[in-house]
Amino acid sequence: MVEILHAFREDHERALTESIQGLLSRHLPEERAAQADRERLFLRDVWKTLGENGMLGLGMPEEHGGSGGGVAESTIVTRELARILPSMAVDYVLCGMVGRTIIDSGQHTNLIEGLASGERIYSYALSEPGGGSDLLSLRTQATLEQGMWRVNGQKLWISLANESDLIFTLVRTDEPESGRSRASGLTLLIIPKNQPGVETNKVNLSIMRAAGTCEVFFTDALAPADSVVGERGRGLHALRGTLDVERVLSAAISLGIGHGALDLVLRYVNERDAFGGPIGRFQAVQHPLAESAAELTAASLLVEYAARLIDRGLPASQESAMAKLVAAECVNRLVDRAARAMGAMGIAEESPMQRYLRDARLQLFSPVNNDLVRGIVAQSLGMPRSY
Ligand SMILES: Cc1cc2nc3c(=O)[nH]c(=O)nc-3n(C[C@H](O)[C@H](O)[C@H](O)COP(=O)(O)OP(=O)(O)OC[C@H]3O[C@@H](n4cnc5c(N)ncnc54)[C@H](O)[C@@H]3O)c2cc1C
Repeated sequence: MVEILHAFREDHERALTESIQGLLSRHLPEERAAQADRERLFLRDVWKTLGENGMLGLGMPEEHGGSGGGVAESTIVTRELARILPSMAVDYVLCGMVGRTIIDSGQHTNLIEGLASGERIYSYALSEPGGGSDLLSLRTQATLEQGMWRVNGQKLWISLANESDLIFTLVRTDEPESGRSRASGLTLLIIPKNQPGVETNKVNLSIMRAAGTCEVFFTDALAPADSVVGERGRGLHALRGTLDVERVLSAAISLGIGHGALDLVLRYVNERDAFGGPIGRFQAVQHPLAESAAELTAASLLVEYAARLIDRGLPASQESAMAKLVAAECVNRLVDRAARAMGAMGIAEESPMQRYLRDARLQLFSPVNNDLVRGIVAQSLGMPRSY
């Protein structure tokens, strides 16, 4: 299916789309994507290529070593990556979030150049074994001793922690002030990965297998006193400015998986014969796919709308949450219908459909679970806060 908004794209957006599609067809053909998924590999060479071609620096100002552009441009690259290898799109979004957090804080901007070029990798450690949605209950602690932060605790499901140079970690440095939310006292710290106090181990997931998801242990890990991002005790505040972007880019991952799966199934149902003709002639095959194509189109428009609101500096929290929700639910319906239409081939190792089917699952609960997103949208509509 042709990209829905192609006719409305500006020239530089079309050029970007062609450029990322060209790069991926040369450096990430299906065989490599399948191998990365099967063997749970993070493809560092592809990552470097993305960096050399300015893709990793999108959304970060050129004066700091980024490539400029806004959320609309990042959405294009995220979607195209997810169409081929959704795991890499997850890493792309998370590394981009670290960059945006740095830029928002106006501190540590010297770290952008290495991130944008792909030379250095920074991971983003918020989730813990005790929970991901209820971030404020996190238990990792840091104390300031003789000019260094000493960090103890555990993080879980952290993308690329094994590969990273620095781990941007949300920790508790102070007890919440009385009468204030549990958010007060949380601090975002930049912790160097390569030191005896930090241990990272890969976690073997059945979805997003090439994303390099890890558990991280901090045992008297050290970070310099000035490694705070934003202000001490206001770590959540440092992240808050990027949450809408994260939701829109997460929705772009859903769109990429949806486009990949739809293209694949449309080819299949027109080629596969049963009972004397292509299976695509059966209404039972046509209707679910037609409905999913319509839903994907609607979701694409919402994602684009939210991205453009953010790029224009307009309030976009409600629209970003809606885009995340709608795209995630839509792609899960789509991959289910597409895999059904392909019968056994929908789950065969040799077909990317089984990868889309598995990877779409992440979109339901990460980076924020859809039930919580429903609560956020409900609150934006004037209903009481539920979480
Ligand atoms: C491949 C992958 C990569 C990841 N990368 C990172 C990363 O780089 N950094 C990082 O910090 N984290 C990362 N995560 C973690 C991810 O952000 C969490 O999985 C996510 O936030 C959900 O947390 P949880 O899994 O602990 O689910 P829980 O918080 O335990 O929630 C489980 C379920 O409970 C229900 N629920 C919870 N809260 C509410 C509520 N308020 N209202 C209604 N229902 C609710 C929902 O149905 C939800 O799905 C990654 C996860 C995966 C799988």
